[in-house]
Amino acid sequence: MNTAAAQPPSPGTEVDVVVVGARCTGSPLAMLLARQGHRVLVLERDRFPSDTMSTHWVQRPGIERLARWGLLDALAGTGCPPLERISLDFGGLALSGAPTSDDAATGPAVTYAPRRTVLDRLLADAARAAGAELREGVTVLDVLREADGGPVTGVLAGTADGGRFTVRARVVVGADGRNSTVARAVDAPVLVDRGPLAATAYAYWTGLAVDGVEAHFRSGSGLSMWPTHEGRTVVALSLRREAFRAWGRDRRRGYLDALAGFPGAAGRIAAARLAGPVRGAAGLRNYYRQSHGPGWALAGDAGHHKDPIAARGISDAFTDAENLAAALHDALTGKLPPDRALARYQARRDAGTAAMFEFACRQAALTGADEHLTSAVRQAREDPVAAGRLLGVFAGARRLDELLPRTAPGTR
Ligand SMILES: Cc1cc2nc3c(=O)[nH]c(=O)nc-3n(C[C@H](O)[C@H](O)[C@H](O)COP(=O)(O)OP(=O)(O)OC[C@H]3O[C@@H](n4cnc5c(N)ncnc54)[C@H](O)[C@@H]3O)c2cc1C
Repeated sequence: MNTAAAQPPSPGTEVDVVVVGARCTGSPLAMLLARQGHRVLVLERDRFPSDTMSTHWVQRPGIERLARWGLLDALAGTGCPPLERISLDFGGLALSGAPTSDDAATGPAVTYAPRRTVLDRLLADAARAAGAELREGVTVLDVLREADGGPVTGVLAGTADGGRFTVRARVVVGADGRNSTVARAVDAPVLVDRGPLAATAYAYWTGLAVDGVEAHFRSGSGLSMWPTHEGRTVVALSLRREAFRAWGRDRRRGYLDALAGFPGAAGRIAAARLAGPVRGAAGLRNYYRQSHGPGWALAGDAGHHKDPIAARGISDAFTDAENLAAALHDALTGKLPPDRALARYQARRDAGTAAMFEFACRQAALTGADEHLTSAVRQAREDPVAAGRLLGVFAGARRLDELLPRTAPGTR
């Protein structure tokens, strides 16, 4: 444990940016800003290594960013197995192969599913190595303003021993997840709210060999599996919220019974060993929040969230970190007025995620594969090139409208 990490910064500390939260959004944002010479303080409630609820499949947009930031080799070096194949099963209709990208420069569309204990620590270490100050075990309690309703000028934070301190900053970023304290403190308007749609439950297994990513789609539920660190395999279910709630206290029993409903996987799972508790949630909302205002911005889950059925949150968090770092650099160096730079950041986020948001909401309704998808799969079964392309869409290596022409172009 890094005991020095919880010490407050010296009184009167003033930085360019305070980032609240140090996982998939906060640490890369801090790293990118620090690499450009900005003074960044990251305040994180947890202490690393620490886990968080996630099935952690990092699709191609996320992997490409890790590579660009110089972190992919370090991740691969942690013993995380590369995921080179994807298998889809729609009950009587199946497709399997290596996903491809249309960008030769990015190489084969390999993905990874690193444990968050490993990934988040690697990102935090990279932020520190870039020169950001990152304090663990510190909870941000509120934002500071010079005057009621005026611009945000810093944060009030607390340590576990009851200590309180303030830090002044030109910008405060909430990278503090779905239940964002910063979003609440600035009263960020919710722009889109589809509520929670599906429930998710998952656990780790040993002795369960899965070649890459495997997904089984049924009306009313879906099952996905992929290998991660230490010989473990993630087995995740998406199911109707009522079904999840009906499990009651015996979540393990409900989860095991539900797995038995997937004949393509049930036999192999029954021969494997459950390695830990079943985790899950039924209240994951699908939303967009207004993500900037005078002296503040939101990024990652704090600003936008969609059902984990899409397995896109980490990739979106990295993308937000990159786009917000560019916007803040423009604002902090006077290249653009802050409100224009941040408005551009939010517009890029909204345009870049809109089609996937709609797709995820449709998938999370769990009505089974629609006819566009099944006919694309049928065609791809006859043509290996088309199969690689279609699987590339599932890996996030290609745009969604390559698979579903009805979706708006631009998102992958
Ligand atoms: C069940 C489930 C499965 C998922 N599976 C996948 C998947 O397979 N692939 C994928 O890409 N995405 C997945 N996601 C989504 C993904 O986990 C999130 O999108 C991602 O973690 C968002 O990162 P973030 O940094 O924005 O927020 P978080 O990961 O939530 O991090 C926020 C951090 O802020 C800290 N914090 C919060 N409040 C404060 C405060 N007041 N002061 C200081 N620190 C604070 C928290 O301690 C936390 O460390 C899944 C999510 C769920 C719930």
